[in-house]
Amino acid sequence: MGKVTGFLEIERHDRKYTPVADRLKHFQEFVVPLSERELRDQAARCMNCGIPYCHGTGSAAPGAPGCPVNNQIPDWNDLVYNGNWEEAARNLHSTNNFPEFTGRICPAPCEASCTLNIDDNPVTIKTIECAIVDKAFEQGWIKPELPAVKTGKKVAVVGAGPAGLAAAQQLARAGHDVHVYEKHAKAGGLLRYGIPDFKMEKGIIDRRIAQMEGEGITFHYGVHVGSNGGLDAKTLLKDHDAVALTGGAEAPRDLPIPGRDLSGIHFAMDFLPQQNRRVSEEPVNATDILAAGKHVVVIGGGDTGSDCIGTSLRQGALSVTQLEIMPAPPERENKALTWPNWPLKMRTSSSQAEGAAREFAVLTQKFEGENGAVKKLTCVRVDGQFKPLPGTEFELSADLVLLAMGFVHPVHEGLLKSLGVDLDPRGNVKANLTDYQTSVQKVFSAGDMRRGQSLVVWAIREGRLCAQAIDKFLMGETDLPR
Ligand SMILES: Cc1cc2nc3c(=O)[nH]c(=O)nc-3n(C[C@H](O)[C@H](O)[C@H](O)COP(=O)(O)OP(=O)(O)OC[C@H]3O[C@@H](n4cnc5c(N)ncnc54)[C@H](O)[C@@H]3O)c2cc1C
Ligand code: SF4
Repeated sequence: MGKVTGFLEIERHDRKYTPVADRLKHFQEFVVPLSERELRDQAARCMNCGIPYCHGTGSAAPGAPGCPVNNQIPDWNDLVYNGNWEEAARNLHSTNNFPEFTGRICPAPCEASCTLNIDDNPVTIKTIECAIVDKAFEQGWIKPELPAVKTGKKVAVVGAGPAGLAAAQQLARAGHDVHVYEKHAKAGGLLRYGIPDFKMEKGIIDRRIAQMEGEGITFHYGVHVGSNGGLDAKTLLKDHDAVALTGGAEAPRDLPIPGRDLSGIHFAMDFLPQQNRRVSEEPVNATDILAAGKHVVVIGGGDTGSDCIGTSLRQGALSVTQLEIMPAPPERENKALTWPNWPLKMRTSSSQAEGAAREFAVLTQKFEGENGAVKKLTCVRVDGQFKPLPGTEFELSADLVLLAMGFVHPVHEGLLKSLGVDLDPRGNVKANLTDYQTSVQKVFSAGDMRRGQSLVVWAIREGRLCAQAIDKFLMGETDLPR
């Protein structure tokens, strides 16, 4: 524990954002890091509780308390307070392969379960995590970690999102010859092509991939496993001793209502990747979908919806309205009922704060247009059972509608069908949390493809555990950490 009386003397003070008017002019990150002095003070607030709920309980249930990768938070808070940043970075990487991702975009369930959150003043855990790893990169402490012995086993990882990357890094460190197959031109999955640069600039991924290449991992880009004209899935299986399926949950939830076929109505994941590609000067390879000069309606209230708002505003939308079918959550949670779990409460993302109108308990009933292009939505307010309330219909003008209602499951055509893996009742790849094995011999699965749409921190967690299971399957035992 850094400073015994730290939590009594020092107020919570977190990273701030640059002003809205400034940040809307560009697509770069806009979070202002704390100084080293401020970080030390914030780390001093950690009480090193007898039961540190921030560590996590090991439960994989959504909303379970604490950090899903079980970061040893009080330990690195103490190390930061004492100025031992290099050891803090070592400690942090012992549980989390990519703290630079989670330090930027994790919703931080650790902070919800911090004992100081009972008073609404949790330790700024995510900020400290991000500062540790950013300093480690600046100082050149992040180097390839080569295995002492090579095993001669060859493992394929299909999908270079956070789950696949975490699995690949762990497997390479266990001495296996790891090949990552990715259909896109670059690694990162939704970190690269979904999450906008203003939340995480893509050089953050590139510097980590450089480390992984130095660890001997081979990346095969532009290889769509199981698609027509792509790499045959059965051949992949034959050529490797084990295969990890980490292809994410890419089938979007649709809104099949009258007018859905009008132009100007798009899935969020047709819109967001285009902007990320523009920023990184990759070809868009499709008709441009742009919000400039348009009234935009975003249907769906989660992270994806927020990213559509921030991107639309930066492109110069005339207005952005976000519709959510759920009722507005309470402004404050009842801590006696919720702590240390993740509470349901009103949250305002940085993108929502940039100027979106938000409507709750609203159902969209139809789209109408002119000359084949969407012009307006007819909506109705709903009760707690999502039943329309008569007489509450209203219309909204829209030139661009973005559907951000989540993802139903992985894409079944191609890879999964040709391998013949069993699916669970929700349509995700069936594999348990003990050995991550699918119904097909030597095929494993992790991340959104197994779990359904989730979070980056859970993808890292599952990637690590899947690697451990594969190592055990190949070698009969494993020394890989959880
Ligand atoms: C817009 C958006 C914003 C989000 N924001 C956040 C956030 O702020 N914080 C957070 O924690 N989570 C966020 N999430 C969720 C998070 O991004 C995912 O939970 C996480 O990326 C899942 O990781 P994954 O590795 O399982 O899958 P993915 O990241 O989806 O990666 C899967 C990879 O597999 C590749 N692939 C798929 N099939 C094949 C194939 N057959 N052959 C070759 N390659 C294949 C894909 O191209 C992709 O690169 C967001 C999601 C979206 C869509
Ligand atoms: S990964 Fe997420 S939950 Fe874990 S310490 Fe970092 S911010 Fe908290």
